[in-house]
Amino acid sequence: MNIHEYQAKEILRAYGAPVTRGLAAFSSQEAETAAQTLGGIAFVVKAQIHAGGRGKGTFKELPAGAKGGVRVVRTPADVKASAAEMLGHTLVTLQTGPSGKQVGRLYVEEGASIDKEFYLSMLVDRASSRVAFVVSTEGGMDIEEVAHSSPEKIVTFSVDPATGIQPLHGRKVAQALGLSGDLGKQAVTLTASLFEAFTQTDMSLLEINPLVVTKDGRLVCLDAKVSFDSNALFRHPDVAQLRDESEEDAKEIEASRYDLSYIALDGTIGCMVNGAGLAMATMDIIKLYGMEPANFLDVGGGATKEKVTAAFKIITADPNVEGILVNIFGGIMRCDVIAEGVIAAVRQVGLTVPLVVRLAGTNVEEGKKIIRESGLNVIPADDLDDAAQKIVAAVKKEAA
Ligand code: ADP
Ligand code: MG
Repeated sequence: MNIHEYQAKEILRAYGAPVTRGLAAFSSQEAETAAQTLGGIAFVVKAQIHAGGRGKGTFKELPAGAKGGVRVVRTPADVKASAAEMLGHTLVTLQTGPSGKQVGRLYVEEGASIDKEFYLSMLVDRASSRVAFVVSTEGGMDIEEVAHSSPEKIVTFSVDPATGIQPLHGRKVAQALGLSGDLGKQAVTLTASLFEAFTQTDMSLLEINPLVVTKDGRLVCLDAKVSFDSNALFRHPDVAQLRDESEEDAKEIEASRYDLSYIALDGTIGCMVNGAGLAMATMDIIKLYGMEPANFLDVGGGATKEKVTAAFKIITADPNVEGILVNIFGGIMRCDVIAEGVIAAVRQVGLTVPLVVRLAGTNVEEGKKIIRESGLNVIPADDLDDAAQKIVAAVKKEAA
């Protein structure tokens, strides 16, 4: 689960990491009031969306040349004006994709006078089963580009869970960033605070880009991107309530209500499959026959009729879907239950695209009979290969 920058900074602050003072705002009036409350001579108005690259982003509705999603301004009145331009508008960045994201909230924070911009991130390194740090002097820019063009400028190390965070880790960070003296000490303290925040709240990613040195000699986290391990959210109800559903795919939210493993993709063939392995094989074989899956969907081993109906509705709600492939191996799951679910869903939502159903395993004959006798226009298939060829052919025929 991802959260907004202002929420991430709130958590970092609670763990003692240095962040700039700021306030969230949901209207331009609130933004102006936030600036008045903060006081000072420079403010930064930052669009809160779950994507980076906001500074260099552009707003769809604003004329070319208008400022991006991170703006440095001088007065509360300017904050208000900038806020009015951003709120409700669509910000397109390198990370949002061409459709962009609508800005519904802002963060107004005090302007920092920046001397240097660094990069620091933490993540769970699966290979070493440890929390790893990634540090670079090349901050404020695209880290993938740095990794590509000058990999020697990126320092990584991981923390042994048996010892936990040690001053030596902080010194590694300081060394990588060329910090000594008081700034070196700040780096050691910061490293420990970030590690605490990361492990105590079960983060899976924490990215500070940029981590800056201010002109008055302070190390400050100027941006913060945080993702949490969703499997650990039950331990953190306070974190779980930071979820902003408006940032998520509506189909994925609906799927999570029914405990379905669903991921929206860009293709045109909707897939309903049981078991993650079979779901991936189904996606592969669709590609093999020249089309792209519209989603990954694992309805799980013990799906009920209601679950299957919900899954089918989610697939058909996707306007990109031009054909549906149901591929079920009945092990724990019975084929007749799947068949009933599919039929119930088709009766409820209608069927405007070709549907191929391949059933195998427990109660397969009952399942096939239910589909045959439903009178619905369902194309039966016998195996995976046959099913994939049939759905691709059916979609091509519709398009012709
Ligand atoms: P994004 O990564 O989405 O573009 P950032 O928060 O990293 O957003 O902001 C982009 C740039 O704007 C930063 O690299 C920094 O140079 C500048 N910036 C961000 N926040 C502040 C601030 N509080 N004071 C001064 N400059 C800032
Ligand atoms: Mg950034």
